[in-house]
Amino acid sequence: MRIETDLKLGFKDVMIRPKRSTLKSRSEVSLKQDFKFLHSTSCWSGVPIMAANMDTVGTFEMARVLAKERLFTAIHKHYSPQEWKVFLKDKTTDFYDHIAISTGTGTDDFEKISRIITENPLLKFICIDVANGYSEHFVQFLKQTRKQYPDKVIIAGNVVTGEMVEELLLAGADIVKVGIGGGSVCTTRVKTGVGYPQLSAIIECADAAHGLGGHIISDGGCKTPGDVAKAFGAGSDFVMLGGMLAGHTESGGEVIEKKGQKFKQFYGMSSKTAMEKHVGGVAEYRASEGKTVQVPFKGEVINTILDILGGLRSTCTYVGASRLKELTKRTTFIRVSEQENQVFTK
Ligand code: 5GP
Repeated sequence: MRIETDLKLGFKDVMIRPKRSTLKSRSEVSLKQDFKFLHSTSCWSGVPIMAANMDTVGTFEMARVLAKERLFTAIHKHYSPQEWKVFLKDKTTDFYDHIAISTGTGTDDFEKISRIITENPLLKFICIDVANGYSEHFVQFLKQTRKQYPDKVIIAGNVVTGEMVEELLLAGADIVKVGIGGGSVCTTRVKTGVGYPQLSAIIECADAAHGLGGHIISDGGCKTPGDVAKAFGAGSDFVMLGGMLAGHTESGGEVIEKKGQKFKQFYGMSSKTAMEKHVGGVAEYRASEGKTVQVPFKGEVINTILDILGGLRSTCTYVGASRLKELTKRTTFIRVSEQENQVFTK
């Protein structure tokens, strides 16, 4: 046994220190980023915020709205090849820059994405997603996918430490997804004791990835636009959101009415609800590591998106970053007490 005694920080433990700025208005801030990738020869340009590949978030409906704003959707893995075909009919080539097809690491998963990609060869991004990115099997699957698709942009995760980010990049990932246990409907920390505070995970993993020419996505734990700004400030190239984009018209599931109020169901992809829906129940040998909640219905997602982008532009103005790209360089975090950083919501 060994104990690492360095304090690791989450979003709630810090604030961003304001700095002198020559910007007159947040309208002068550009949130567009341009990326070249480590393995794929594709370039990418857009606003690097992503909807999570959860079936209550990463839906086709979400992708239509987010792509218009040049954001990104990791589409969940439960759509059939036929549904993909219908969805992609009439889409322009530009649209493919704003969606990823997601997969697990089973043989069935590989066969399914192979079929969907063969039928829709313009698909450019593949998101290989497992709860625990530390397994040898996952690395083998990543290598196999890279071999099969040398030109696609491959996203792989989730991990939280620099050495594993390096391993995944060397095994063929262009972008590594970072975050374990921090998701809003995740119970991994409670069920297993495993996790890593997200802000420190971003700082350490971004450093490892950027050293090799790779990129990272901060995945999980953002509750407010301020958290999204902190994730970018810490060095993340993309930020993935689940809970913040759940509960909208475009999110999966029905609207539920209770005592005159509207809600939508939102659940973790390892929750009992998800496992019952997709694999016929929770296998005896495992515990569910996600919960099911009802979130207040929030209407159209575009309003939430504009709120997040407005907040992010404002952060950039406070620190004098005219482009999102400059935010990390201009960020100084100050540590604060938890009470200081409590967010009061109505
Ligand atoms: P949020 O933005 O809601 O805080 O976090 C979203 C992320 O939580 C997802 O992208 C995914 O990485 C993670 N997640 C989704 N479902 C589950 C689950 O059932 N269990 C765990 N441990 N993590 C989940």
